[in-house]
Amino acid sequence: MFDDLRGKRALVTGAFGGLGSHFAKVLAGAGVRVALAGRRIEAARPIAAQIEQDGGTACVVPMDVTSAASITDAFDAAESQLGGSMQIVVNNAGIAVTRPAAACEEHEWQSVIDVNLNGAWRVAQAAGQRMIAQGGGSIISIASILGLRVAQQVPAYAAAKAGLIHLTQALALEWARHGVRVNALAPGYIETELNRDFFASEAGQALIRRVPQRRIGQPEHLDGALLLMASDAATFMTGAVLAIDGGHLVSSL
Ligand code: NAP
Repeated sequence: MFDDLRGKRALVTGAFGGLGSHFAKVLAGAGVRVALAGRRIEAARPIAAQIEQDGGTACVVPMDVTSAASITDAFDAAESQLGGSMQIVVNNAGIAVTRPAAACEEHEWQSVIDVNLNGAWRVAQAAGQRMIAQGGGSIISIASILGLRVAQQVPAYAAAKAGLIHLTQALALEWARHGVRVNALAPGYIETELNRDFFASEAGQALIRRVPQRRIGQPEHLDGALLLMASDAATFMTGAVLAIDGGHLVSSL
């Protein structure tokens, strides 16, 4: 179904974290040559090595999404190491600050907006400019169900993800005629190393009971949607926002 992905090139931001490294491996497993972009280069080497060991192709490029210059350098490095421009970009880098709105500090608000919204914009613009020049591509924004419904204590995160969803649609509109598709995945709560202890706690278990499927997601639950959005199988799909959340968004009010 996704055979067209074989031999394509993709750049994944935040590729050394829980979901980003998973996305890079899934794309590589489908035959995509992958550039892993992020800050903690030392954390990236084993991920790239694992991809290569499994028969894929991966390179590591330093990228801080708060710096436009760093993003340009990362795209240049990825193109030179993978032998051409990116046909797929996964805009995944993100951070969260959990704090009651009344206590949220200016710098906390700014940092979440600067990575999750401004950073995603910088990466999408750099990707879009290059994809327009090459005649097409697929950009996948990793948003969140918190961009579609709110929860307590994450005001900046929720606002940034809502902005990212709207940005995704605005870019889809502008770039459709250039063959550039821009879509968003909106995951619900997905288990990674960072949140595993929380979901095992009483508070985490209480949260899980509010999900209609009574479970949290695993990274592999996102694989089908990721590959679909990356692939030409979704050639008529742009500006779409796909929630993958065990029904959390449709939980009873
Ligand atoms: P994670 O393990 O913390 O990974 C986040 C990644 O973003 C890290 O690799 C981090 O790199 C990178 N990053 C942060 N600031 C950056 C910057 N300025 N420049 C470049 N990279 C930066 O979190 P995750 O759970 O995998 O989340 C990945 C994405 O999925 C995020 O956008 C998150 O909002 C979204 N999401 C996650 C869930 C979930 O339940 N896990 C649900 C919905 C949406 P460093 O290691 O260098 O800091």
